[in-house]
Amino acid sequence: MLLLALESSCDETAAAVVRDGRTVLSSIVASQISTHAEYGGVVPEIASRQHLEAVSIVVEQALQEAGVGIADIEGVAVTQGPGLAGALLVGISAAKGLSFGRRIPLVGVNHIEGHLLAVFLERPVEFPFIALAVSGGHSHLYRVDGIGRYTTLGQTVDDAAGEAFDKVAKLIGLPYPGGVAIDRLSAGGDPQAIKFPRPLLHDGTFNFSFSGLKTAVLTHVSKHPEAKEAGINDLAASFQAAVCEVLTKKTAAAIAETGIKRLVVAGGVACNSGLRRSMAQYAEANGVELSIPSPKLCADNAAMIAVPGDFYLGAGYQSGFDLDALPVWPLDKLAARFQGGK
Ligand code: ATP
Ligand code: MG
Ligand code: FE
Repeated sequence: MLLLALESSCDETAAAVVRDGRTVLSSIVASQISTHAEYGGVVPEIASRQHLEAVSIVVEQALQEAGVGIADIEGVAVTQGPGLAGALLVGISAAKGLSFGRRIPLVGVNHIEGHLLAVFLERPVEFPFIALAVSGGHSHLYRVDGIGRYTTLGQTVDDAAGEAFDKVAKLIGLPYPGGVAIDRLSAGGDPQAIKFPRPLLHDGTFNFSFSGLKTAVLTHVSKHPEAKEAGINDLAASFQAAVCEVLTKKTAAAIAETGIKRLVVAGGVACNSGLRRSMAQYAEANGVELSIPSPKLCADNAAMIAVPGDFYLGAGYQSGFDLDALPVWPLDKLAARFQGGK
């Protein structure tokens, strides 16, 4: 099936044309980062307006780059949630318009499900697998038994990993979004220079907590102001090492407990070079099959939305025109679709 997929849950307006949920014919991402950087974070009202300005343009570009016309598109998949309500509604309205106008089926997709399945656009992964979703709003460990079949094993009790990167970056004077900046600075620093805490590492759960780590960075820089200047590489590297160690060890514990030796790491923070390295080392040493999408598929994009979109439409599940944004939408709830629910 030739699908057009749309994504507008946060600060990227994206459209993609994907065949059979596997082959990307085009993937266009219009980022609003430079606009929001001025404010140090995403401003929801501005995000909605920019999505509105960009949505038809990215759809046009996606069709053009794929070399297809709108008449060739057989279905529309759109991010339904989680995300900013006003931002989501822009993509949803556009998708409904296309579906209605062209009389093609429409399906609402969970953004995090898109992140977890993005890797299928590059290589197949057998079920079941353990998945770590690390992004601006999520730090979740899941057991994945099939598309739509997710069990949450653990999650952050406060900040998400990406949020922690962004907040720490802000307090040490780096521009938004801070994850990339910290990653870059870490390359020239000593990850053992500062002993930051490893929150919840031995609590026996699969939960994460990053807000105490952020406070530890704040306390450190207020006692040692030079850490933000000449010591910034060591500071960034030490913080990044703490986050990566907790993420890797908790994931390792989930794999040890479930005995499932297949792992997918996804979401914007999966771009982080330290995390990619520590996951690769762990996987290599423990015979775990690791799949991390290439960075452009870890960050927000619409192609990833087409993977579950194609599956649901193929399985006969379709959304109606009453499709509404779901700003909060835990993945565990998706199983209802197999019982005829939403
Ligand atoms: P969610 O997916 O939870 O709804 P989101 O869509 O806003 O949230 P993503 O776009 O998936 O989040 O990821 C963005 C996050 O990834 C930001 O917090 C950003 O700082 C972080 N990030 C991107 N690149 C890197 C990197 N190289 N190192 C660390 N963090 C990174
Ligand atoms: Mg984003
Ligand atoms: Fe995301």
